[in-house]
Amino acid sequence: MSSTHTTDVLVIGAGQGGGEAAVSLRRLGHTGAILVAGDEPLLPYRRPPLSKGLLTGEVDLDDLLDRRAEAYESAGIDTLLGASAVEIDTTDRVVTFADGGTATYETLILATGARARTLASIGIAVPDDAPNLHYLRSVADAERLRPQLRAGARLVVVGGGYVGLEVAASSRGRGVAVTVIEGQDRLLARVTAPVVSEFYRRVHHDEGVEILLDTSVAGFTFAPDGHITEVLCDDGTVLPCDLVVAGIGGVANVELAAAAGLLVENGIVVDEHCRTSDPHVLAIGDCAAFPSVHAGTTIRLESVPNALEHARVAAATVMQAAAPTQSPPWFWSDQYDLKLQMVGLSAGHDQVAVRGDMSARSFIAFYLREGVVVAADAVNSSRDFGWCKKIVALQQEFSVDQLQDTDAALKDIARGVSA
Ligand SMILES: Cc1cc2nc3c(=O)[nH]c(=O)nc-3n(C[C@H](O)[C@H](O)[C@H](O)COP(=O)(O)OP(=O)(O)OC[C@H]3O[C@@H](n4cnc5c(N)ncnc54)[C@H](O)[C@@H]3O)c2cc1C
Repeated sequence: MSSTHTTDVLVIGAGQGGGEAAVSLRRLGHTGAILVAGDEPLLPYRRPPLSKGLLTGEVDLDDLLDRRAEAYESAGIDTLLGASAVEIDTTDRVVTFADGGTATYETLILATGARARTLASIGIAVPDDAPNLHYLRSVADAERLRPQLRAGARLVVVGGGYVGLEVAASSRGRGVAVTVIEGQDRLLARVTAPVVSEFYRRVHHDEGVEILLDTSVAGFTFAPDGHITEVLCDDGTVLPCDLVVAGIGGVANVELAAAAGLLVENGIVVDEHCRTSDPHVLAIGDCAAFPSVHAGTTIRLESVPNALEHARVAAATVMQAAAPTQSPPWFWSDQYDLKLQMVGLSAGHDQVAVRGDMSARSFIAFYLREGVVVAADAVNSSRDFGWCKKIVALQQEFSVDQLQDTDAALKDIARGVSA
């Protein structure tokens, strides 16, 4: 039955950003009615394990929730699950849900996240619901995929980015035969330097993953029941398979905002306070395009730390409190025994300094632009990652030799002992 809600703050999207925004509002002393509404049947949960521990079996569904129901209840935060918002009326400040229910708001926070880009959307003839074609964005997606990752099954992963490579690593752990096809000439090409890409190519190769670079999907062969039986590559290679996982990036969920007349470009455009073009509407997380002081331009990021930071900024905006300082963006990826932690934005770098021993599978790649350290990738170097964050935040010049000199402690470099 449809319902009517009167809220002070309405959050659309019960993901990590949405949940954190509601909790941050209470932390800052907000006393009005808060409703978090989301179209999934679950309370806000962590997506990173979907391609990692949830596939390998190290993480249970129960471990995924950010907070249990009681935490929202005791904070006086209402939740409405399985509720898809279909329309925003910015004049009367009402959101309508698919079942006809409505919620009024003083402030609306859009936290609608992103969805997986599909092969069909890039012009490849394949039904999105082919029984053995998988995308990975939600618990439902992971639960559909997991039983098909049987020992001996042949998996083709389309896309050599994080999600694809994490699925490859998790699947190898389950005895699945894995081939990764990547259209670029290296893995992780969008985010890492060639030296790091090559390191990951070798690791996957040594784990038994077949990697085809410079190779794209041209089409598929189907069995009469709709199952994919072969992946056809643009260079003529034919890959017989039992299942396919496509990890070809995300698309921001902006349609709701665009239909309401909000300014949308690559994401819902916001200012540094997460305010959209409508004074009563904020947007946060994967769906928001925001002015990054670190990038010097408007960017849209898909990462947990980014969604949580936006959530805290939005709560501060609602409460007219000082916004937290923007930290350099950071991210992580777990593959096999390797923890990769990245901070900063490496785009446009002109030098890379590798500190540590790549063959020992523990090193840091620092990215420099005109001498300034703009980003770092730390592999199995968690203890030093805090220093990497500080060094990137300094926005200061260092020499490659200085960064590579393992006799000099990173903490001294982080304290600003510049070249
Ligand atoms: C497989 C995978 C692995 C990842 N690994 C990492 C990692 O290792 N490290 C990292 O930092 N990040 C990782 N990420 C990215 C990270 O999970 C996201 O950046 C983060 O979840 C963004 O949070 P969000 O709240 O903005 O959006 P989301 O978590 O996507 O939440 C948005 C919610 O809004 C809902 N929604 C959308 N439209 C509507 C609507 N109209 N009405 C109601 N509800 C709606 C969506 O269904 C969803 O539940 C990973 C993501 C995936 C998919």
